[in-house]
Amino acid sequence: MVSDCIFCKIVAGDIPASKVYEDEHFLAFLDISQVTAGHTLVIPKKHARNLLEMTPNETGELFEVVSQVAKNVGNATQPKGMNVISNMEEIAGQSVFHTHVHILPRYSQEDDLKIDFTAHEPDFDQLARLAELIAAQ
Ligand code: AMP
Ligand code: ZN
Repeated sequence: MVSDCIFCKIVAGDIPASKVYEDEHFLAFLDISQVTAGHTLVIPKKHARNLLEMTPNETGELFEVVSQVAKNVGNATQPKGMNVISNMEEIAGQSVFHTHVHILPRYSQEDDLKIDFTAHEPDFDQLARLAELIAAQ
């Protein structure tokens, strides 16, 4: 438990949350600022700054829960699609520094979620170099 962490306080029951799933290690609750109806956060109960601080095994278990909760949210809200996002660090939009995965049902392209993958011409030399570098880690 990190004393100034709002999600640790939710895990401890010190502040309320609209819980939709809970087990020994994970918790899911509605985001207080519903970007779309059903916007849900899935968190590990054990504090970690973000996914990059967790082991692949912990992340795998977290995503098993994300998978189940996303299906439950979808069954309940019947969206046309969904985004699953985890922001890591401020530059990527992280504002709460306790790992969380957003589940965002999508009903319309004119909703309040803006994700823009601007298209670029492929640079195949750069792709080859980057792939080699990443594969070598
Ligand atoms: P991020 O910007 O990816 O770090 O997301 C943090 C999310 O936590 C935001 O979407 C907030 O609306 C949400 N949030 C902050 N405080 C609470 C709270 N007390 N209960 C539920 N969601 C919260
Ligand atoms: Zn925390």
